[in-house]
Amino acid sequence: MIVFKRVSELQSYLQTQQKSDSKIGFIPTMGALHNGHISLISKAKEEGILAVCSIFVNPAQFNDKKDFEKYPSTVAEDIVLLDAAKCDILFLPSVHEIYPKGEDDAKSYDFGFLETVYEGAKRPGHFKGVGKVVALLLQIIQPDVLYMGSKDYQQCMVVKNLCLQMGLSERIRFETCPTKREADGLAMSSRNRRLSDSERSIAAIIYQCLISIQNKATSGMSFRIVEKECTELMCAKGIKPEYVGIAHADSLEPLADFDPAVKMVVLIAAWVGDVRLIDNMILN
Ligand code: AMP
Repeated sequence: MIVFKRVSELQSYLQTQQKSDSKIGFIPTMGALHNGHISLISKAKEEGILAVCSIFVNPAQFNDKKDFEKYPSTVAEDIVLLDAAKCDILFLPSVHEIYPKGEDDAKSYDFGFLETVYEGAKRPGHFKGVGKVVALLLQIIQPDVLYMGSKDYQQCMVVKNLCLQMGLSERIRFETCPTKREADGLAMSSRNRRLSDSERSIAAIIYQCLISIQNKATSGMSFRIVEKECTELMCAKGIKPEYVGIAHADSLEPLADFDPAVKMVVLIAAWVGDVRLIDNMILN
């Protein structure tokens, strides 16, 4: 694997690859890698595509500065994992390399309704920050395929919308990869390593709630009751839910009742101790 820290050096390497007809796959990450991230690299490799992974903890997407400061950084371990997964390129830029004139100078995109619900509502400015960094990274790397995880469901919608606004939807294939989970169902996340043993032992309740919501909501129970039951269950077990919502999977409009004709997603954000976790599941 080749590691680049400079935009100019990465770009001149990628231009040579493009001339030899290699397809470029891009996997943006914030590091502290786990098997969920690695599944995206593996997908690119299975497809015979040059895997370009970035590790960049983007300050612009942290509405909570403490969360940014506490975000885990394990670059040496990440490199070992990426090497083992046969990742071709790691882009490891500094904040200055991405935002030479500061993050406020970077172009900001408007994601409309998507910024007002669920993660958008609870983390003001978060998706603006995601939009800024992903737009810059797409301009730098000019990938043919973008690999992202459905673990961050709303983020996938935002980035698809970003590609549309940038006029890249035809040029870039968007590959959404399934959520990788631990044996007890907890979605793999860089933040899981901040959980204490006792917090880790209750964290899988979030997944159990998703399964229970899927069963109850698709058998006709009112969504308000299902959401309330799960909120109460999490609270009783020591987890603090921020939201439990069932929404239209293509628009994220909140829904009240099951309709087999509509694709639906359940979304949860919850605090386990001082660690904020998110997860989701398609209902039908
Ligand atoms: P992050 O480093 O958290 O910004 O995530 C980088 C990419 O990895 C995003 O596209 C995530 O959706 C994806 N990802 C994170 N966790 C998982 C997981 N458990 N399974 C699959 N993909 C994941």
